[in-house]
Amino acid sequence: MSDKTQAIFTGDRCLSCTSCMANCPVMAAIKDYRGPKLVGPAHGRMHFSQEDIEATLEFCSNCKSCDRACPSGVAVSTLNMLQRAEYYKTHPHTQAEDMIAHGERAGKMVRMMPFGATFANIGMEFGKTLGIFSKLGLAGERDMPAYASTPFKDLYSRIKQTAGGKKIVMFTGCFINDNEPQVGEAFVKVMNANGYEVLIDKGFNCCGSPLVVTGYLDEAKQHADNNADRILEWKKKGIPVVTPCTSCSLMLKEEYHELFAEHKFHEAAENVYDAFEFLEILQERGEFNDNVKPISQKLLYHVPCHLKCQAIGLPAANILEEFGANVQTADAGCCGISGNYGFRKDKYDISMKIGAKLFERVKRKDFDKVISDCGTCRMQIHHGSGIKPCHPIEILAAAYQ
Ligand code: SF4
Ligand code: SF4
Repeated sequence: MSDKTQAIFTGDRCLSCTSCMANCPVMAAIKDYRGPKLVGPAHGRMHFSQEDIEATLEFCSNCKSCDRACPSGVAVSTLNMLQRAEYYKTHPHTQAEDMIAHGERAGKMVRMMPFGATFANIGMEFGKTLGIFSKLGLAGERDMPAYASTPFKDLYSRIKQTAGGKKIVMFTGCFINDNEPQVGEAFVKVMNANGYEVLIDKGFNCCGSPLVVTGYLDEAKQHADNNADRILEWKKKGIPVVTPCTSCSLMLKEEYHELFAEHKFHEAAENVYDAFEFLEILQERGEFNDNVKPISQKLLYHVPCHLKCQAIGLPAANILEEFGANVQTADAGCCGISGNYGFRKDKYDISMKIGAKLFERVKRKDFDKVISDCGTCRMQIHHGSGIKPCHPIEILAAAYQ
């Protein structure tokens, strides 16, 4: 029997209220985009075929603001992604699309070479300076994310964990593994402080989010199958899977079953938690270690779109405030980068226009630090404002003695 939560069936619930259109940041930024209602439920239901593909579908960034705004539970953004995959069945991907969709592959290649991270970072600097990225179809204005000298999965084996008998598995995500391993170290410190040993599973693939938004749906399905099977193995052992990356948690918890409509994805989702969601559950159970130094910082919090649509509230803000932090939400909408969207040359200006309100807010500098749970949001804020944010787990980790 079909699973009626699959996105393709939710289009029937559309009431044409246009709430999704009013909340779409791309629609607000450019006139060319016809918007989520016409592109998603309407066009998707009426046609849904490659011959009649909606030309402005390419503008959707998969930020999912439309999904949150919809009163009828239409999975608008996923309808868009399913249609995008149809388009690419008969249209070749560009070289730039291949690159931005396959960050995991690039990371593995870099790590196979001695001093691979150093050479790759120098190469990316030259690529930017000489305009090569721009010629390839990437946003030449941006710095590509620099590779850390040691990926988190290698650093992990050197961490002396101090936890008791409880265990979780960390889904690292590509960005934390390859580019920001310090976030992974902070995650381990916090989980250890709360009595959990952190395991990693080197058999996990990239969650597949960059593949889905770039139309590589078959590859994304292979990643989903592998990841869900592994999550279910951990579930059998009673060990939850926790991730400090909001786009990964959204993918594992919600997008797999919306896209692929298999019951196993629902079952796997029950064993996946975003990092602060998990910590808040520990608090509710009275199991949270509150032996934390007071956090006397004013924090500006950019809440990622992919956290908002998980409907779990703002657990990071709640926890940090409890220990003295003054957390203000930036309340400036989508940052505009939306995963790899803002790395496309032809989407760069849209991405920066969407993020402009947030950049202005950050530039007021009336805080000690900017925090955000999403790696690409952090990159976009840094690029647009010059101020480098950190992950909220780094603030909490520093507060544990
Ligand atoms: S996912 Fe974002 S960009 Fe795409 S239609 Fe929805 S609100 Fe607009
Ligand atoms: S918000 Fe939902 S119900 Fe309203 S037009 Fe958009 S998809 Fe249809």
